[in-house]
Amino acid sequence: MRTRFAPSPTGPLHLGHAFSALTAQKLAAQAGGSFLLRIEDIDRSRARPEWEAQIYDDLHWLGLDWPAPVMRQSDRLPQYRAALGALWDRGLLYPCSCNRRDIAAALAAPQEGAEPVLGPDGLVYPGTCRPSTPPTGEMPDDLPLRLNMAKALEGLELSFHETGAGPGGETGTIHLSAAHMCDNIGDVILARRDMGTSYHLSVVVDDAEQEITDVVRGRDLFEATAIHVLLQRLLRLPTPRYHHHCLIRDDAGKRLAKRDDARAIATYREQGLTPGDIRQRLGL
Ligand code: GLU
Repeated sequence: MRTRFAPSPTGPLHLGHAFSALTAQKLAAQAGGSFLLRIEDIDRSRARPEWEAQIYDDLHWLGLDWPAPVMRQSDRLPQYRAALGALWDRGLLYPCSCNRRDIAAALAAPQEGAEPVLGPDGLVYPGTCRPSTPPTGEMPDDLPLRLNMAKALEGLELSFHETGAGPGGETGTIHLSAAHMCDNIGDVILARRDMGTSYHLSVVVDDAEQEITDVVRGRDLFEATAIHVLLQRLLRLPTPRYHHHCLIRDDAGKRLAKRDDARAIATYREQGLTPGDIRQRLGL
């Protein structure tokens, strides 16, 4: 078994991150497997070296260790572009420069009819830029690219194995419905203009490269897993098992945010708590 923790260095690690990392490490250790770390720093406008340094420091303090060198997504743009190129060559991507306001306006137009649906990446794209025939020629390297979801799903039956649980208690073999994915996820962005890639594309390419057998992460990413399983199939990569764990909430029941410094591991450390105190607080 191989698990991983894949934080983005865009803020301090908080209790939710500690829970994720410790759970991933524990599951691997119980099976005699290994635990890996990956730094998800494709968002160059928000990633900071000081947050990355703090991640290493907090995780070591919690008692975690991992093999070096650590994979950093900012080193892997060529691999992501190669994967995108394979999808482009199959006619599954199209350029789209619609911004959030364009999407909201298109959805508000009377001819669209249907109610706007909120998907894992925001409002489900109404298809304004989706071409009726796949674009030809070279893949543009300076434009956002969307996945043509309906076309990508043609003829595919998708499922994955959940060893934790989704938000509705989903566990075991999860069958993915193409109709549900078209209506509730839609044509997601796979290459963002400012990054040349996206979370979904990078995470799939990297989990395969690191030979992750069990992806351990928060339940908030359960819906996105359908996109990842589809991309694995399209890119001929193996689908790992998934373990979505419960989310750690603050005392008022709200999900912890990156800016919630009060629950940052660093704050607890300054207050003199021990790693044992943190584990106890997390029920681990
Ligand atoms: N980088 C993602 C985050 O910090 C983790 C995604 C994942 O575990 O798949 O939310």
